[in-house]
Amino acid sequence: MQDMKKFLEERQASAIDFLEKLVNTDSSATDKHSVNQVGELIRRRLELEGISYEVKRNEDFGDTIIATIPGNRPGKVLLMGHMDTAFPIGTAKERPFSRKGDLLHGPGVSDMKSGLVIMMEAAVALKELAGDKICDLELLFTPDEEIGSPLSRATIQERAENALAVFNLEPGRPDGSVVTARKGSAHLKISVEGKAAHSGAFIEKGISANDELALKMIEIKKLMDVEKGITVNFGKIEGGIGNNVVSPSASATIHLAFWTEEQYDQTVGAIQKIVDHSYVSGSKSTLSGKIGMLPMEKHAGVETLFRAVERAGRELGHNVTEQRTKGAADAGFTASLGIPTICGMGPVGGNWHGVDEYMELETFGPRTLLLATSILQYLKQVD
Ligand SMILES: [Zn+2]
Repeated sequence: MQDMKKFLEERQASAIDFLEKLVNTDSSATDKHSVNQVGELIRRRLELEGISYEVKRNEDFGDTIIATIPGNRPGKVLLMGHMDTAFPIGTAKERPFSRKGDLLHGPGVSDMKSGLVIMMEAAVALKELAGDKICDLELLFTPDEEIGSPLSRATIQERAENALAVFNLEPGRPDGSVVTARKGSAHLKISVEGKAAHSGAFIEKGISANDELALKMIEIKKLMDVEKGITVNFGKIEGGIGNNVVSPSASATIHLAFWTEEQYDQTVGAIQKIVDHSYVSGSKSTLSGKIGMLPMEKHAGVETLFRAVERAGRELGHNVTEQRTKGAADAGFTASLGIPTICGMGPVGGNWHGVDEYMELETFGPRTLLLATSILQYLKQVD
């Protein structure tokens, strides 16, 4: 352990330089070219470390990078992180990487470019110092998490399917916790069809889609249960064509968030019933959309992996705590397959997606060591 600590300490200055380069290179999921520039930096560093990788070219998004470090034991552990940030092109130029005391700033420094760096650092340390004790390590770099991983969902699930465990390198929480549960979310849309008529002369001949939608919305909003963590938000409402016309069509989008897939199924079932019922006689409605980010539920596999992380923490002399967090992330895709998954393994940070996003530099080394040690602990345990 001391060897690994020393090994990582000696590399830290170079690792932070690399982080600076990543932060100073914008990467917006909707701009494939920018994500590929970050991908290029990652590939160069992998080459420098003698780590082989494959690149999956993507038509609409940045390319996916999958690096592998072969181990001596059967099975593999998947480490994953997203290369894109929530910031538009130009942000890195506006407020580049900077350091104030122990805090590092810059777009994506915490979410999650530092996570990418420590996943590479931990993998290199294991390769150099624990080669005989590890199974294959796979490092997955994805291009589209900030827009819900429309492309990467399939890749993530495919790569996780036969993994012993998955570590997602999203940032550690401000209190230092790792994440063992996350909410899932769904984007739905209700479309209502009615019939137009002059609302002064012939209102009885019309079928108001607006009225129907409004009555449905009141019922749907009643499904919200903040205590249980089920939330319903009507994001965008449209309807009608003019003030003296009975509205022939209307629609509303719904953002649902929930802790479990069961909550999702129940809520959507209840919404479907409301959509199928006509409050305004003659109106017709449909529900479209589906679950987006799957929730990360704390099942037995997650619990077991967390115990290994806790033990690794104790070995390193600190107490690792866990928390559940409302924001969805890629960890839900792997946890929902039943694969032991821990999220929030990155360095500690906060204020993500904001101008004051920060990463705590003093957690960089300890979190790298925690990741490497957790992998070793878990492999010992599954022997
Ligand atoms: Zn993130």
